Amino acid sequence: MTVTRAFGDAGADLAFDFAHADRPALVTALLDACAAVPGGWWPRPVGARTAALLALLRATEGREALALTLRCPACGAPFEIELAHDALAALAPAAAQMQLAREGAEALTLRLPTGDDLRAWRSLAPAWPGEVQRAMLAHLAVAGTPTAEDAAAAADALAQVDPLVSFGVACTCPACGAAAEPEIDLEAVALQRLAVRQRNLLHEVHALASRYGWTEGEILAVPPARRARYLELIEGYA
Ligand SMILES: [Zn+2]
Repeated sequence: MTVTRAFGDAGADLAFDFAHADRPALVTALLDACAAVPGGWWPRPVGARTAALLALLRATEGREALALTLRCPACGAPFEIELAHDALAALAPAAAQMQLAREGAEALTLRLPTGDDLRAWRSLAPAWPGEVQRAMLAHLAVAGTPTAEDAAAAADALAQVDPLVSFGVACTCPACGAAAEPEIDLEAVALQRLAVRQRNLLHEVHALASRYGWTEGEILAVPPARRARYLELIEGYA
């Protein structure tokens, strides 16, 4: 997987709707635009999609680590942590399937959930979580027949093979010393920061249009580096 361009380098990036409720569709569209792969991003495992989104954020921000502000669950003090992008990238799933050993029954082979699965599950009624879980498990089974008792073990095993999906980080509060392992929604964090990049791009267009009277299309046709130079000039002489 290679990120082909940073987000915000193309005028089309202004069209992404970050307020859109359909998150799997938004993630797929972003990755297909900036990190295209054969066959597109829908059929890729969820953790691979998250890893690619983080790689896109890394290329866009030009930083080697993801800085996050967490809040201590014990004393409420805010504190900062940094997650190295290299370490996060190493957590991308290495295989597309996993095996679950079962006592007294054949082993269960499960596929890792993909973007396509997320899309299919969006239409499942959330009113019967037990039913939904069984349907999801049956859907992921490649070999062996899953039973209701397998659900918890399968969820644990999937989380281990694909750790970016339900990501937790062990940390200690610098104020009170309490240990915590908060779950961090890495996909949401990445989307939120890409949305900030989009807002900044909109500001760039606004500043250049206001000063030079160029159209949006004309401004976006100017390469990003030169756009930045014009903005420096505007700030310098404002
Ligand atoms: Zn604390």
